[in-house]
Order: sequence, then C-alpha cells, then structure tokens
Amino acid sequence: MNHSLPDEDAPIFAPDAFRLGDEEGALLAKVRLFGARVLAPRAAQHDRDATFPIGNFRDMHPEGLLGICIAKQHGGLGASYRTYCLAGAELGRYCGATALSWNMHVCSTLWTGALADDLEMSAADRAAHNANRAMHYRRIVEQGAIYSQPFSEGGAAAAGAVAFGTEARPVDGGFLVSGRKIFASLSGAADYYGILCTERAEGEQASRRNTLYLAVPANAPGVSVVGDWDPLGMRGTVSRTLLMQDVFVPESELLMPHGVYFRAATSWPHMFLTLSPTYMGLAQAAYDFTVAYLRGEAPGTPPVKRRMFPTKQIAVAEMHVMLEQTKALFFQVVSEARANPTREQVLRAYAAQYTVMENANALAAKAIRTCGGQSMLKSLPLERIYRDSRCGSLMLPWTAEICLDRLGREALYEPGEKDE
Ligand SMILES: Cc1cc2nc3c(=O)[nH]c(=O)nc-3n(C[C@H](O)[C@H](O)[C@H](O)COP(=O)(O)OP(=O)(O)OC[C@H]3O[C@@H](n4cnc5c(N)ncnc54)[C@H](O)[C@@H]3O)c2cc1C
Repeated sequence: MNHSLPDEDAPIFAPDAFRLGDEEGALLAKVRLFGARVLAPRAAQHDRDATFPIGNFRDMHPEGLLGICIAKQHGGLGASYRTYCLAGAELGRYCGATALSWNMHVCSTLWTGALADDLEMSAADRAAHNANRAMHYRRIVEQGAIYSQPFSEGGAAAAGAVAFGTEARPVDGGFLVSGRKIFASLSGAADYYGILCTERAEGEQASRRNTLYLAVPANAPGVSVVGDWDPLGMRGTVSRTLLMQDVFVPESELLMPHGVYFRAATSWPHMFLTLSPTYMGLAQAAYDFTVAYLRGEAPGTPPVKRRMFPTKQIAVAEMHVMLEQTKALFFQVVSEARANPTREQVLRAYAAQYTVMENANALAAKAIRTCGGQSMLKSLPLERIYRDSRCGSLMLPWTAEICLDRLGREALYEPGEKDE
C-alpha cells in the first residue's frame, strides 16, 4: 500500500520495502507530514534563540502525538516501540531539538506502558502501577501535559555505574526529594519532570536497586530551574539545570513501582536506544539536503546544478552507502527490541546506537564538505543539522564511547568471566 501524500518527502522507511503494517505506515505518513509542515518552518528560530518549541508540543496534542505510545484503551495511539522509533526518525529530519525533546516525553509513556507490561511485578505492584499510569496518561491525553526525563547529574549515575545522588526520602504519603539534575531538557517547559533518584530511608545505604522513577510536578514548592543554556547544538531542547530541595512528591507520582526501574534497565536494555531515532532522522536530512543542493533544488538557494562533477557523485555515493548501512542496522534493532534479549541482540543494539550517532554527524560533515561554503550559511538547515548531529554521541547512558567499551568487553568475555 502506498502511504505517501502529495508534496511530501519520501518516507525514510518505505512501508512496502520495510514491510510495515498498514496502520504503522499511515501513522508514520501523518508524523512525517506534521514534521514537514509544523516543525520545519519553526526550527531555525528556536535554534537561533535557544528557545523551547512549545508551540510544536501544543500542536502535537490535538494530533494525538503526545500520546503516541499510550495504549488505545487509555486514549492514546497505541504505537509500538518500533513504530515510535520510526516516527522519531521522521520528526528528527525536520527539527532535531523537537524530536529529541519529544523522545523524553514519549519515553515516559513507553517505559511505563508496553515496556512495563513485560516486567515482572507482584499483583499489588501491578495494580498500583496501572492506577498511577492511568492518571499520568489522562493528564497527557486530556490536558496535553508534557513530561521530561532529567536523569543526568554530572557523575557516574546516568551511565548506570553508581546510585543517583538525587534522593527521595520516604515520608507520610510520598517522598521528600532533593537533588540536582544537569542537562534537563524541557526545563521550564515540562509540566512534570520524570526524574530518576535513589529511594533512601534514614540510615540506609544508597543502592542502584532502589532507583525510583518519579514524576515531580514542575510547580511543586522547592523546584527551580537555574543556569543558562547556550550550547553548540540541540539548542531548542533548553536543557538547563533542575534543582529540587525537599520537594514533596506524592506516592501516586511513581512512574514505576519501587525497585522496578532497576529491573527494566537490566531486562529491557533497548529502552536506552530511544535517543537514536532523532539522529537517524538527522542522518537522512543531511543526505536529502545534499542531493537537493547538488541538483540545484534546495529551497532558498539559486538553481545552480553541481551534480555533474564526478567528485560530487562519488561523495553522494559514499553518503548513500553510509545512510543505507545506518538505516539497515537501525531498522533491524528497533524491530527486534524486546524484554530479555539475547546477548547478540544487545551487542547489536550497542552497534546500532554507535552507528546512528557517529554516522549522523559524519554524514552532516561530509554534506558540508561536498556542497561547499554556501551550504553552511545559517539561512539553510544544513549547518543546524551538523551542530545538532554532533550531540548524539554524547547522550548517556549509551554514549559512543560506552557502546564501544561494552561491545569490546562483552564480545570477549562471557558473563561473569574474569582473567586470572
Ligand atoms: C542536547 C542534550 C540534551 C540532553 N538532555 C538530557 C536530558 O533530557 N536528560 C538527561 O538525563 N540527560 C540529558 N543530556 C545529558 C547527557 O546524557 C550527558 O549527561 C551530558 O552530555 C553530560 O555528560 P558529560 O559528557 O559531561 O559526562 P561525563 O560524565 O563527563 O562523561 C564524559 C564521557 O565519558 C564517558 N563516560 C562517562 N561515564 C562513563 C562510565 N561509567 N564508563 C565509561 N565511560 C564513561 C562517556 O563517553 C561520556 O560521554 C543531554 C545532553 C545533550 C547534549
């Protein structure tokens, strides 16, 4: 079935070629059109001013896109992990910062939804989780509430090495939360900050097993956003510093029951791959720009053709190969994601994350070298794509370095194996 609409960019993953379902293909076509019509015209200004694209999120609400991964029974679109990843890539083509921020929001529903359904929980935990998530989903579906995911603290916790320094002290009816999160995308824009913190009673040792995933209302007393935000790329994410000082958070704001986040992180590792779709989209955008520019068809440029030079043709051929390699690995990995993957699947996920993040920036760099000086003027999207794509390898917990670290170690050592 052909899902393409007139005046639309071709899908990154053509439904027929990649054997997508009809509903999946139709949703992706809708997302792509939304990206082209709503996100693209606003992207340059949010990048220039480093302002959060709140209008994009307001416009996503009536389209159902804030609830893309919320189950249909809760009023969402019921998209699967894979469908979400392909949708994130389509949005990333048009505005990296919106797609990346959207990822933070969507993950708060994907992780508490389809992913949590795969996790072992006691009957009591399951019942409490179902009640809590129904409340979170109502806020999103009915009121357009926006959630974010500030996990990073600047230490080793976001990489999964130690317990989070942000702590939740159990008190009557909930928790008192104190701590500091850096790079809190959507700071000042989100209605709820979906933080990771360590649940720790008086006198207890901090442990990663006691990680809590908790929604902190942005307007709760004790919450503040500080510092400026003037980075190289992904400027529209507005990832300032979030401070919490003795913030009372009711028990019902738990996004996962006690101890379940730790289980999720170990048994559903592909949950951390969800930062890559944005960059898959940026990789496609760098390639698309290059082809349009060399054909003399890039909007905002004179109709000068440069495609006849053999060096340009070789560069585009190399970019094409790299893009297809990236797409193939990405598609395989988002299609096979599941609970308790095999070791081979986990290694492939690291390889995919590494490939998408590194290749997005390599493609953007090559696009600028190939198209030339006029292509990197700020009046065109390529230099923004270049700067945004540079950020992909830095995203914890699966930075490019950490992916290589784990790939090397886990390929050479069986679980638990040591050298004498
Ligand atoms: C645009 C943008 C938006 C972001 N949005 C969010 C957000 O919404 N929420 C959020 O939680 N974070 C977010 N981050 C933060 C991101 O995940 C990092 O925490 C942030 O870039 C700061 O990390 P750092 O590179 O300074 O970390 P450092 O801890 O200084 O690490 C530097 C590098 O060392 C390596 N490294 C670190 N720890 C280990 C380890 N244990 N083992 C091996 N290698 C290691 C990694 O490769 C890492 O890149 C965002 C980052 C960017 C760039």
